[in-house]
This record gives sequence, structure tokens and C-alpha cells, in this order.
Amino acid sequence: MGDLKWLAMLLGMEDMSNIWCIYCLLRKLEWMRIGHEKSLLRTMEMLKKLANDPTLTGVARMGVKFEPLWDFLKIWPNFGIPHLHKCIGVFNDIMENFENVVEWKIIIKSPEKMKLYEEFKVIDDKIKQHQDDLTKWTTSTEGNRRKYLLEKKKDLDKKISEGKKVDKYLSQKEISKLQELEAKHIKLVKDRDTAKRRKETISNKLKKYSAGRKLDTKSVHNQLEDHAEIHKLSKGKLFGGSYQGPDARKVMENPRLFFDGFRKILLKKENRNDTVTDELINKLCDDTIKLLELWDTYFSLMNKEKPTDEDIKTKAPAVAEAAVRKHQEVLKNITPKVHLAEYHAVDQFQQLPPGMVRLLVEQWVEVNHQISKKKEAQHSHMPDHQKRANSIAKSQHKSRNPDIIQRINEVKNHKKRGPYKKKKKEQGTSDSVEEEGGTAAVSPSPQKTSRAEAGDNDYDLVASLVNRRKPNSQEPPHTSPNRQHARSKSRSNPPSTQS
Ligand SMILES: [Zn+2]
Repeated sequence: MGDLKWLAMLLGMEDMSNIWCIYCLLRKLEWMRIGHEKSLLRTMEMLKKLANDPTLTGVARMGVKFEPLWDFLKIWPNFGIPHLHKCIGVFNDIMENFENVVEWKIIIKSPEKMKLYEEFKVIDDKIKQHQDDLTKWTTSTEGNRRKYLLEKKKDLDKKISEGKKVDKYLSQKEISKLQELEAKHIKLVKDRDTAKRRKETISNKLKKYSAGRKLDTKSVHNQLEDHAEIHKLSKGKLFGGSYQGPDARKVMENPRLFFDGFRKILLKKENRNDTVTDELINKLCDDTIKLLELWDTYFSLMNKEKPTDEDIKTKAPAVAEAAVRKHQEVLKNITPKVHLAEYHAVDQFQQLPPGMVRLLVEQWVEVNHQISKKKEAQHSHMPDHQKRANSIAKSQHKSRNPDIIQRINEVKNHKKRGPYKKKKKEQGTSDSVEEEGGTAAVSPSPQKTSRAEAGDNDYDLVASLVNRRKPNSQEPPHTSPNRQHARSKSRSNPPSTQS
């Protein structure tokens, strides 16, 4: 589960990530507007109030679905931004944009493939339209009439088959009406299902195309991949592979190395459509390079070991704004992660002791990724999405932070459980957790990696430092040398990525 999704869940805002910010009261519509105002920050009290007010519906709920799970914590600083997640997300968006333009605007394709792609882009809307038509009709007067007659007929037929006496069967008029309504219903269902099957067919055909181009060693895709590989971006990442932390870092640190090469390949006449101008290719490559450079400046600053006063007060907001404006210009989109980068990450950077964000980026978040993957695997048997997520989240924090363990148990104790008993094993390393509500028991993980253990200590360090909130702490914590980014994020993308 993505860290943002996980935080959203803890705050009672399941599945909001594309619409509402989890830190403030803005939604996408608002943060997309250039020069928009900042908004109030959310508080636990606010979230609880929204969750418990049944009169609020739609937008008025501000994305709140249920009560925050840990209302005894403050949103800030306890719900810090997952920085690495943010960095990878931003990077993936940029690469996806580049690949999409290359795939669907630049590279030569057979007319048939283009036609399929155009159809694929609108097929989901078509399916939805058919489904809406069907739903609308079944709840209309005609739909209700059909339902009534159908049930009546079934009832009568059953009685007849059981040899019971039936006073009055459906009249001839009713039978004709039912036949007429049935035909309408069948047509609506058929339209929807035909569209669904069509989608599958197109998708399969496009997949075949993609598979074919992989085999063609001279294809533009392979030329681009070969170039990326020279600079140690392993093959299969372009056009639908998933980028991880080290990939993002490698490309962001020196985007020219990659994109000037891509440019050369795309500019070759034999590789592109006749209608594609040099200008378009150059603009795409220049924009992407510039954007990656701006984000690199941003993330480098966030990651700085000893940021100066100037870095914190003036540089951070300026650098964030430059990156976000360019991002919006090139991608025409501001995802929740970009909004976080622009506002909340900068705020947090300014409030944390200097150098602290670096620690969060390098260690805690990374460990969190690894553990959450493990937890998800452990909880995969739980069919209920909500329960599973709650359980994973609880399990994670319970097993890692003694203060939280203590507090959770204090809260729970007055209900049904006895006092918290620490396992005899080393503290904080047990993954064994009993599920709340008796949903399931999780078997303890047999071993825990040394990285994860090191991370736990770092997390405690972060927690204690944050709690002390010494704004001018002279000795910023250093990161452990064995840093490693192993976050993978698979991008969901239309046909271009189904390779
Ligand atoms: Zn916000």
C-alpha cells in the first residue's frame, strides 16, 4: 500500500488521494489553480467532527469517511510526509508523460494500431455510459414494471408447477408488455457487455503489438532502452516498467545524459511520423530535462545534511514553486504528491530541526516500505479491504514504537484487554500482533532484517527529536551508510505501458 494511502486511512480518509489533501482542506480542483490560497490545516478534532456529522454529504464531508483511527495523535508532526514515496511518484509521472508523448505522438505506427489506441482511450467511457443507461432504465417506471411483471409471472409459474390452483394468470396484455420490456432490458445488457468484450479484444491486440516491438531489435523502443542501459538504467524500465528510488536518483541527477540521447534517436527521420517536427521533439526533451533538474534541486535541498537559514526560509519555498510550476506546465496536472511537495513538505522542512528531512527520506520511509510490503503479505488473507488496512497499520506501528504501543493499550485496556505485556523477545522487534475485533491472528515473522532493525532505531530517534523540537539542533543526525531505495511502484497506464 502506498504510504499516502496508508496515512489517509489512518486519518479516516480512505481513498481520497486524488481528490482531497490529507493535510489541508484543499481538493484537487483548488490546488490546480495557479496562485491559489493556502488552506487551513486539518486537525484531529476537525476530522472527528466531520466523521460524526451525518447531515454532511458529498463535498461537505471534505473527504472524511470515518473517524480517524488514532485520534490521540496530532496530525503534525506524527503524520509526516513520506518523502521518498513523493519523489518516486513525481519521477514516475514525468517519465510516464515522456513515454506517452513518444509512444502516441512521435513514433511511427500502423494506422490500425492508431485506430485501436484511439478506440481504447474512449472505451471505458463507453462502458460506463452503457452501464448508466442500464441502471437508469432498471429504476425507471418501465424498469420497475418489468420487475413487477417478472416476479408475478415467476410466482404464478411456481404455483402451477407445484400443482397449486391459480385464480388468474397474467393477461395477454401483460404478457405482451413483459415481452416488450424484456427485449429492452436485454438490449441494454447486451450493449454493455459487447463494449466490455471489445475492450478486452483491443487490449489483447495492443499487447501483441507491444510484445512484437520488444522482439524487433531495431525498434525505436529498443533503441531508447539501449541508450538508457548504457547509463545504467536497466532494461525494461522505459515504456511501462516500474521505477524505483535508485532509478529516480540516477536520472534526476543527470537528466541530460539520458534525454539528449533519447532526443538524437527520436530526431532520426526513420523513427518518427512525417508530421512530427524537430521542434516538438526538442521541446519534449528540453522540458523533461528542465523539469527533472528543478525537482533534483528541490529534493537535494530537502535532503541537505546541514541546510542554512537561507535554505530553510527563502530557498525551499522558491525551489518548490519553480518545480511545481514547470510540472504543471509540462504535465498539465498536479497530483497529490506534487501538492504535498509544494506546500506541506516545505512547511515541514521549515519546522523540523535542520537536516531531519534527510533522515526521513533516507531511512525511515524506506524501512517503512519494506515492512509494509511484508505486512501486506501477512494480511493478504483478510478479505475485507478496510479491516486489512487497519490491521496492517496497527500492526506496523504497534510493533515499532513503544510509546504508541503503550498508548494504544492504555486506550484499549478499559474495554476488554488486560494490560500490555511485552514479549520476552527483544522489544520492538516482534511482528506478532493480535487483531482487534478478533478478525485474525497474524503469525510472527520468523526473522527481521538487520536493516529493518536499524531503521526502527532511527525511527525512535526521529520521534524523540521531533518531540523535542529543537529548531537549531546543532548536530543533525546522519544517515546510515547502508541506505538503499527499493521502492517499486507499478504505474497504471493505458495501452502504452502494456508491454
Ligand atoms: Zn494540502
